[in-house]
Amino acid sequence: MSLRHRLISSGFDVIAALGLHRIAAPLTRGVGAIVMFHHVRPTGPETFAPNKALEITPAFLEASILRLRQSGYRIVTMDEAIAVLRERSGGPPVAVLTFDDGYRDNVEWALPVLDRHQAPATVYVTTGFADRTARLWWLELEEAIRHLDRVEVDIGGDRVELPAVGTAEKREAFAAISRRLRRGPEDQLLSTIAELCGRAGVDGRTLVERECLNWPAIEALSQHPLITIGSHTVTHPMLAKHAEAKVLEELRHAKQMLEEHTGRPVRHVAYPIGDPSSAGPRDFALAAQAGYLSGVTTRPGLLYCGHANHPMALPRVSIDGRYQSGACLDILLSGVAFAVWNRGRRIDVT
Ligand SMILES: [Zn+2]
Repeated sequence: MSLRHRLISSGFDVIAALGLHRIAAPLTRGVGAIVMFHHVRPTGPETFAPNKALEITPAFLEASILRLRQSGYRIVTMDEAIAVLRERSGGPPVAVLTFDDGYRDNVEWALPVLDRHQAPATVYVTTGFADRTARLWWLELEEAIRHLDRVEVDIGGDRVELPAVGTAEKREAFAAISRRLRRGPEDQLLSTIAELCGRAGVDGRTLVERECLNWPAIEALSQHPLITIGSHTVTHPMLAKHAEAKVLEELRHAKQMLEEHTGRPVRHVAYPIGDPSSAGPRDFALAAQAGYLSGVTTRPGLLYCGHANHPMALPRVSIDGRYQSGACLDILLSGVAFAVWNRGRRIDVT
């Protein structure tokens, strides 16, 4: 467990033990929450699983839906949530369930749960995953380190050499390499990981094929009455690191392709990676220019009335697969953890 992981975990424990979330909820609870998921599937036995945060079990998805409803949330589509924000009409808080990237397990494992509970959801699809042309670089890096006993790469002129024999060393190598690469330009990240994959005998395209929905599956999913298809760009870039023309092309082309394939308007976008270093005010403006009505980030927070003025920069409640418990969900929905995290600031769009 990393130090950051331990701090978050003990923070949850302290809040839960003191009942702070129940005391503070009337002050910090918003008008709604956009909940973010990625993979939904049964847990595997793997001990080296650095992308575990992106994965929950079908049982926890079900528990989350029940918990949201028990807590008074109305689970709605993204269109309805935007309408609620605009109308400021009061009433019970709303929750939007969102799934990023377009994974096969969303259909296999999440959809039956959504169906059973008649819970609508938005699936943000990266068209390059459906085309098998974009890269799941975080998964490529995991697979490469799984197969390597030593990681040696040049990053921005620095030679990085790390042992990667057991689980602990592999975890540290993954964290160190991904941290270094995330700070630099995207082409350096992609080429460095491609180099490691070459050495480890990992084929990135096979990973995309294994994990991601293809076009016929996306077309079928889009016809499901509970599902809204949103856009997650063409190649899943950290938009803020790229020139304006490239960002606009990513946003426009993904929208157009998804509309052609599904025969439905695509009004909502999720910014890839979605933190402030990946999506900023310029990108929010470009998404509006590309014709989207809403944009979701991975900035942590609940929805407040003030977000009606910032529909292109909405925060989300990220469900971390390492904390799959009803108590953690209660704390997140109370808003108290975000109030601390965001130092009391409710709207973060800069
Ligand atoms: Zn994504």
